[in-house]
Amino acid sequence: MIFKTDQADIQSFLEDTSVLQGGHTDGVYLPETYSDVSEVLARCYQNRTRVTLSGNGTGTTGGRIPFGGVTMAFHRLNKILDIQKFPDGSGRATVQAGALLFDVQRDVDSLGLLYTPDPTERYCFIGGTIANNSSGARTFKYGPTRPYVERLKLAFADGDVMDVHRGAIFADAQNMMDFTTPRGRRYRFQLPNYAMPNTSKHVAGFYAEPQMDLIDLFIGSEGTLAVILEADLKLLPKPEKMFSALVYFAQDDDVLRFVEEARARSRAGAGISARALEFFDARSLTFLRQKYPNIPAHAAGAIFFEQETTAQTEDAALNEWYALLEKHRALLEQSWIALTPDEQQQIRDFRHALPVLVNEWYARFKQRKISTDMATPHERFPELLSAYRNECEANGFDYILFGHIGDAHLHLNILPKNADEAARAKEVYRGFIKKTIELGGTISAEHGVGKLKAEYLAMMFGERGIREMARIKKTLDERLILNIGNLIPEKYLTD
Ligand SMILES: Cc1cc2nc3c(=O)[nH]c(=O)nc-3n(C[C@H](O)[C@H](O)[C@H](O)COP(=O)(O)OP(=O)(O)OC[C@H]3O[C@@H](n4cnc5c(N)ncnc54)[C@H](O)[C@@H]3O)c2cc1C
Repeated sequence: MIFKTDQADIQSFLEDTSVLQGGHTDGVYLPETYSDVSEVLARCYQNRTRVTLSGNGTGTTGGRIPFGGVTMAFHRLNKILDIQKFPDGSGRATVQAGALLFDVQRDVDSLGLLYTPDPTERYCFIGGTIANNSSGARTFKYGPTRPYVERLKLAFADGDVMDVHRGAIFADAQNMMDFTTPRGRRYRFQLPNYAMPNTSKHVAGFYAEPQMDLIDLFIGSEGTLAVILEADLKLLPKPEKMFSALVYFAQDDDVLRFVEEARARSRAGAGISARALEFFDARSLTFLRQKYPNIPAHAAGAIFFEQETTAQTEDAALNEWYALLEKHRALLEQSWIALTPDEQQQIRDFRHALPVLVNEWYARFKQRKISTDMATPHERFPELLSAYRNECEANGFDYILFGHIGDAHLHLNILPKNADEAARAKEVYRGFIKKTIELGGTISAEHGVGKLKAEYLAMMFGERGIREMARIKKTLDERLILNIGNLIPEKYLTD
């Protein structure tokens, strides 16, 4: 196993896409076997050395950035161990934590299978996506990563390794979780009592549900409870056909009314059935013109959608979409309907280009990212959208709004021009967190809390909720070595 200590070699592990500064580590372990992981953890447990877990660094919240101790990175535990296809057309992939999502999706696709979780950034590790319960455009139809994880091989803070299978261990009627590792160590703790928000996406804090499955506690726990080594992933049959579209509108109101109807009809499951429904505001399109100069000058917004079909249903589905687009006055002449996989990839590349350009902007101007990841219950979403726009206009900010509108989840990115604006933007951001909580929403729908948003978690769950999480953390990681600073503010762990 390699242990890197040279500053030039470890510099990249002190970064992700959050532009969080000040990270430092004594060195980076690159384990090649599960025993390597166990040995490092056992030593760190013994010495109370903190261990920060690193995926591929595409996270946006500073989750993998270490502040002391050592780093453990999964780049050499990157094998796709097995892909099985079952007679009913579904399947299962067994992969190591450092396998690239891109590689997993490519390999399962070549076998006629589909792994549905699709964060816009596909050069992330499977371990990172499970630690964050990541989502993507297809989450609108299929949900986030969670339901597709059937087994996890975990290493606990003391180095003990255990397979946790979905459906094997549940909390009891009093919501006590009780399990024993193969080495005989027993863990027993009360699960949180807080209610989860009524949103279709949510990844802030530990998952909690009456009599929940143990595996769900680890998915989305951002590496604070155990290290993910390996996973069995549920695969669906690859759809026979699909089309996608990037459609422009001249009026903002038309875009929103179109979304409303497309969403409702997709949920009703008749004819129109989007698997992705994504939004770009006029400012996003202006931002994208640096790379895509053909975007119509008068476009006030755009929608990207995808629908799965078969040879029998394709024509009827296309006709229904055309009728809906005409009804809402889409700019059909300038829009882009993609019927082939190559064209569909080009539209996905367009979608991906926007957050990449935004991240580059923050890096270029050395600004801390001010990007919302909040979602609300669907019926309250217009209130949050108005708040985003009104506050940004009132403050004279440059900003762009885009993302997963089908899930009532947009990323508002404020682009401050100077330090004064950056300070005001942070205050305004805090106001949005408050507003989202008032609306019954979540402070993070998909990017997680990491280090950047830990201070807001108490606003959402209250002091009591945070202490419920801290109690679980202190049971499973009683020497407080795993991913300290992520999710739960440190003061709740040490007092
Ligand atoms: C352009 C762009 C677009 C994005 N789009 C989306 C999107 O659509 N949806 C979405 O959900 N996210 C999105 N993201 C965020 C990011 O891609 C995801 O959060 C991703 O899952 C992070 O994976 P990673 O391997 O890069 O993890 P890292 O950034 O390296 O780490 C993320 C967290 O996971 C923990 N971790 C990593 N590996 C393990 C492990 N083996 N065991 C336990 N904990 C571990 C780390 O400690 C850290 O807390 C986007 C990011 C970018 C840059």
